Amino acid sequence: MPHSHLIKPLIGEQYPTIDYGKGVFLYDTDGHEYVDACSGAVTANLGHGMEEILQSIVNQGNKVAFVYRSQFSNQPAEELASFLNDKTGYPWTFFVNSGSEAVETAIKIAIQHWQEKGKPLKRKILSRWLSYHGITFGALSASGHPSRRERFDSFLGDWPTIEPPYCAHCPFGKTYPSCGLACASQLDTMITRIGAENIAAFMAEPIIGAAGGAITPPKGYYERIKEICEAHDILFISDEVMTGCGRTGTFLALEQWGVKADIVAVGKGLSAGYAPIAATLISEKVMEPIVQGSKVIMSGHTFSGNPMSATAALAVLKLIESEKIIEGVDQKGTYLKNLLEKCRTEFPFIQDIRGRGLMWGIEFDERGAGFTSFIVQNGVDNGILLYPASAGIDGRKGSAIMVAPPLNSTKRELEEMVKRLRRTFQMAADNWK
Ligand code: PLP
Repeated sequence: MPHSHLIKPLIGEQYPTIDYGKGVFLYDTDGHEYVDACSGAVTANLGHGMEEILQSIVNQGNKVAFVYRSQFSNQPAEELASFLNDKTGYPWTFFVNSGSEAVETAIKIAIQHWQEKGKPLKRKILSRWLSYHGITFGALSASGHPSRRERFDSFLGDWPTIEPPYCAHCPFGKTYPSCGLACASQLDTMITRIGAENIAAFMAEPIIGAAGGAITPPKGYYERIKEICEAHDILFISDEVMTGCGRTGTFLALEQWGVKADIVAVGKGLSAGYAPIAATLISEKVMEPIVQGSKVIMSGHTFSGNPMSATAALAVLKLIESEKIIEGVDQKGTYLKNLLEKCRTEFPFIQDIRGRGLMWGIEFDERGAGFTSFIVQNGVDNGILLYPASAGIDGRKGSAIMVAPPLNSTKRELEEMVKRLRRTFQMAADNWK
């Protein structure tokens, strides 16, 4: 029998095989323990092995595991849509299987919205440099992420980007608040240059994740962005795939700027990793011309609204609500931030710590991606999982990691994470050349 090959992120590299997880810990088949300080890919918001969630998936499986969305609705998907509406105020929900698909759907709906209103030329999506919206072609077209784009650049949509709200390395060489939010005002300039009649929407992650390491815009930024979108009659899409479902201390991160987008993509924390599911949440304003017009959203997947996945997400969200998990995020986040700040005083290569709730980015001085890899790999050897992010205004030279533990981590578990992180930083201080 020829060997089979499961393709890993780096072909030829050996990855530990995980045997089981419990709470914030994962255990591999060789018996090594890892504390999950980044919730996988900022996903496992409730940690591992939660009995209530697993039991609800089994119960649903005993009723029915799959129905096709073009033939039937199903109770868990209906209930989940209703729960999301109660939590966010978006009356329309479209289920998909990944964050990339939720973003693709958001883009398609924005374009379709204008078509149904008789404005088919409004089809460009503006976004930001230093952003990651997903790996599929539409989502990647809107992503200002150099290393993920470069192989496919010539196939991607010609969609302009504006500068990110990156206060640590302000692209305009200014300082907040005297900058007057030049990074937000650039959207106005860009729309005027391209012509609002050619633009469907502007899309942004409220806090920049993989492409920047939790770059967090200052107060006033999204208020201004929303104002500009409204003034030019273009839609605002918020990609909350990473920030949504409580990660930053509110159900949607944009709530913290007091702003409501027209379309929102959520994923990751929606099921906290217990099943693949993501969703596009859509306002009445965006849906209205579609409901009055073709009545069909030309998107969808075989597994959209799968009852097993919807059940998992529903169980996760109910648990987050009944245990008042989001209410505790701010306090735990501040506790974690203070522990991280102590590390900053010990390790001068830490240049910036930023974020909200339980999503923290640590940017290093300009040692490049090799330094991030060194930290992440040594972290694994020290039993701590960290999320690598690109950083630096060119998206390549900088180096950052994210610490984004499960939202139900205890203070002692946060202390254990920082203890292992400090050990990892010490190894870098001693050994990085
Ligand atoms: N949008 C954001 C903000 C993300 O962080 C990600 C993934 O990291 C995606 C979209 C894509 O999600 P997925 O990997 O589930 O396709």
